[in-house]
Amino acid sequence: MKKKSKEPAPAAGLFGEITPPPAPAVKSGLLAFSYSKMSLYEECPLKYKFKYIDKIKEEPKFYFAFGSAIHAALEFLYSVRNPPFPTIEEVCEDFRREWNLKSYLEKGYRTQQRSDDDYQKGLLMLKAYYEHNRARFAPPFLVEYATDVEVDGLLVRTISDRIEHLGGGEITIIDYKTGKDVKREPAQLYMYQKITEMDPRLREKIAETYGTRVAAVKIRELLYYHVPTNKEYHFERAGDKEIGGFWERVLGVADSIRGLKFDPTPAERACSWCDYKSLCPAFFGGHPHNAAQPAAVPGENIEVLVDRYGRLKERMDELQAQLDQVADSIARAAKDGAEYAGSQYTARVKKQSKWEFKDRDAVIKILNQFDLYKDALTLTLTGITNVLESAGLQEEARKKLLEQAVKKTGLDIKVVKKEGLI
Ligand code: SF4
Repeated sequence: MKKKSKEPAPAAGLFGEITPPPAPAVKSGLLAFSYSKMSLYEECPLKYKFKYIDKIKEEPKFYFAFGSAIHAALEFLYSVRNPPFPTIEEVCEDFRREWNLKSYLEKGYRTQQRSDDDYQKGLLMLKAYYEHNRARFAPPFLVEYATDVEVDGLLVRTISDRIEHLGGGEITIIDYKTGKDVKREPAQLYMYQKITEMDPRLREKIAETYGTRVAAVKIRELLYYHVPTNKEYHFERAGDKEIGGFWERVLGVADSIRGLKFDPTPAERACSWCDYKSLCPAFFGGHPHNAAQPAAVPGENIEVLVDRYGRLKERMDELQAQLDQVADSIARAAKDGAEYAGSQYTARVKKQSKWEFKDRDAVIKILNQFDLYKDALTLTLTGITNVLESAGLQEEARKKLLEQAVKKTGLDIKVVKKEGLI
């Protein structure tokens, strides 16, 4: 299944003041819920609040981008009603298309090289998958099946990578995994068993696809398929006791969310992957701090502050690189003076031409040679540009300065958030 998803007083944060959250996302009084939301809440309730209630976006993660592209290629492979199945070349081409929809930064990679390496890894993985499974390719019952089921005041969303119908309403659910080959716990599959068997649409789908009506849908088997190694982890249908215990856990988490219990639960591993460290009162000085461990006083430990500064600077550089890349794309696509509206923001774009000089020393030499240094006043870009564009400049001096200059289009984008959006 794909990764798809008493309040404290307001506090100052990176993104401005953090106001107490509105009630958790609900539809007709229902709490929107999923296995991944539950896992995140269990990892750290405050992280859940930042992500799902404050709706602060996380940084893109390369491992999600990679998993998503592999899932998309397998969806393409199995989206077949009548054979033949796509060739491996077509599957790889679909993977390439998906991969190129985003830049390496948008996918969460630090360098183009790492993105290219993972692309090659993905191609090899798909080829090995194809070879390993081609003898048993058969049109599946459902691929990437998303459903929302209402139960106990929750609206639970599941997305099944693939469902096979074994006859008589019995099904197998297959969940692809693309990360490390770690010991698999069946908890996620309990969620799929509970929700899938309650889903009225599945019976209709069976009737539509196979022309037979079934009284009920029943899971016979749940399967984690580890794509990098082609290993399969089979789990038989869970008993009522397991499902009952699991469901109590679900309702406990849902009650805590409804009760707005969002205390942080800092832990070395969870915090190290958390994008909200700079907003989190429980994470300070590069380390998680629990209630029993008072947070360090700012400035107390210069080594820790240096590391924190370095990490923030690295993140700012990455964000700046992404901003520059998006601004370049806007510069290419936008008309001067035009206004554009996305779903959340509007932007007015102004373009102006400006000069940039490659070699500062060469420019100083030319200014001295033609006794223009004082005309540039101080050696600022504006001063040199004024000299270059002045009507009385000797042609030879202009020619030499132009050899050092590149004309660029400057961009001024004024972005305004649309009213009514939070
Ligand atoms: S930094 Fe740690 S404690 Fe703070 S929100 Fe993230 S995971 Fe939770």
